[in-house]
Amino acid sequence: MQTFVTREEITHWRQQKLALGQSVGFVPTMGALHKGHLSLVEQASKENEVVIVSIFVNPKQFNIDADLDQYPRMIEADLKLLKKFDHIVVFLPSESEMYPENQPFEPMPLERIGQLMEGAHRPGHFEGVVHVVHHLFDLIAPNKAYFGQKDFQQLAVIRQLNAYYQFGIEIIGCQTIREANGLAMSSRNLRLNEAQREQAAAIYKALCYIKKQVGHMPIELAKKNAMEQIENAGLKLEYLEIVDPLTLDACIDWQSLQVCCIAAVCGGIRLIDNMLYESVL
Ligand code: AMP
Repeated sequence: MQTFVTREEITHWRQQKLALGQSVGFVPTMGALHKGHLSLVEQASKENEVVIVSIFVNPKQFNIDADLDQYPRMIEADLKLLKKFDHIVVFLPSESEMYPENQPFEPMPLERIGQLMEGAHRPGHFEGVVHVVHHLFDLIAPNKAYFGQKDFQQLAVIRQLNAYYQFGIEIIGCQTIREANGLAMSSRNLRLNEAQREQAAAIYKALCYIKKQVGHMPIELAKKNAMEQIENAGLKLEYLEIVDPLTLDACIDWQSLQVCCIAAVCGGIRLIDNMLYESVL
């Protein structure tokens, strides 16, 4: 398995792939890989001749210094997990390689979908995501790029970015992989102890509770009950919104399609999750 650390190495590798006419799938990550990440790599491996995985803890997308400092980093273990795949290369840029001083970047205006929920609660977060993904797309120029639906709003922002900068990359949204108790896998779960992992499953339970109420209970009541369930489990709720999957505007009534997005803090660790619901109206 090849690992690259410089832009030059990637550019050279990309030119080779172009000359060979090979399709390139790209999976951007911040490392501390788990089964959720690996499911993206697996799908990319099935759909492309070669896959590139980037591992870079992007300082620009953290709005709290302590969160960045405490973000798990375990590069040796990550590389071991990735070795199991064929035709894969890994990009491990340093911060100066990711953001060279002379690298042009025109920030795109973050529209409403980038301003709500995560955008409102983590100022600067999506600006940082857009910056890093712009540079990665520009450098790697993949045919397809894979993102988790776990970060539902991020996926919407990435689709907007792809259109805004006219990258022409096929953006693939992949399903959320969960622990046995329903907790969405996340690198941040490494910082939860056993009891907190059980407690954090309240987020998934609330998402399932709402699923049962779709089309039956008034939406506001379903939200209120689900919020109470999360708080009663000892979590600190940041937001619970039921929104239109395309505009991310809050739903007033049940629609044919809606997504519930939750951010809550468990044992000092901020977790997000969501669930998409279809209803026959
Ligand atoms: P991260 O390393 O947290 O930036 O995540 C890298 C990619 O993996 C993002 O596209 C995430 O949405 C995706 N991802 C993270 N957790 C999961 C999960 N539990 N299931 C599926 N994809 C995930």
